Amino acid sequence: MERKTAKKIEIVEIPFGQIDSVLLDLDGTLLDKYFDDYFWEHLVPEKYAEAHNVTFGRAKEELLEMYRSHEATLNWTDLDFWSSQLGLDIPALKEQIKHLIEVHPHVEEFLEALRSRGKKIYLFTNAHYKAIEIKFKKTGLAKYFDHVVASYGIGYPKEDIRFWEKAQPRVGFEREKSLFIDDTESVLETADKFGIKYLLLKEKPASKDVEEKVKERKSTKTKTGRFQTIKDFKELLTALK
Ligand SMILES: [Mg+2]
Repeated sequence: MERKTAKKIEIVEIPFGQIDSVLLDLDGTLLDKYFDDYFWEHLVPEKYAEAHNVTFGRAKEELLEMYRSHEATLNWTDLDFWSSQLGLDIPALKEQIKHLIEVHPHVEEFLEALRSRGKKIYLFTNAHYKAIEIKFKKTGLAKYFDHVVASYGIGYPKEDIRFWEKAQPRVGFEREKSLFIDDTESVLETADKFGIKYLLLKEKPASKDVEEKVKERKSTKTKTGRFQTIKDFKELLTALK
């Protein structure tokens, strides 16, 4: 029985001896993306429907359309933009469901292991500073990071190469000695173009789906298989010991 469980854990070979900086995405990578999915795909449509006197279905349709048109832009990450766009207090709504914010399994163990090996740990996120604040308060993860880089402060989202060009000198990591983990392939592609040597795709960003329809939409984004993947941070612990 025990052997069977042990077999399931894939060991990812990352040469941590050659890596001095670890760059990490927040939502979907360190944190369960269910919180964000539930927020944007359920709570916001619900409140939008109430405020604009439309059905939940209609609200959802209109919102998905709006979300799509701002995907991979700074607007997408800007909570104040959405507050004014939708006529809702977005940060206050996030605060309302903060109990749903969860850290993925073995993340803290992984961060502790990086610390004890003397690695620099950087958070590289598209999340808005107000969202980061709520998430740090709930999870206590802030203490692990040497530096938090938010795309909002840089002026470009991580999908844009200019984000990396501006962020790199601020933080000072060496591309050749850095590992970057993210759950979005297009972000990894940009980081690859920028020359970050070690890249990993975090699979299973959300522990569960909000509902079926959303699942269909997501399945259109198939993985390219271009990047090495991890499902659980446990897979990296052996390489760090
Ligand atoms: Mg992410």
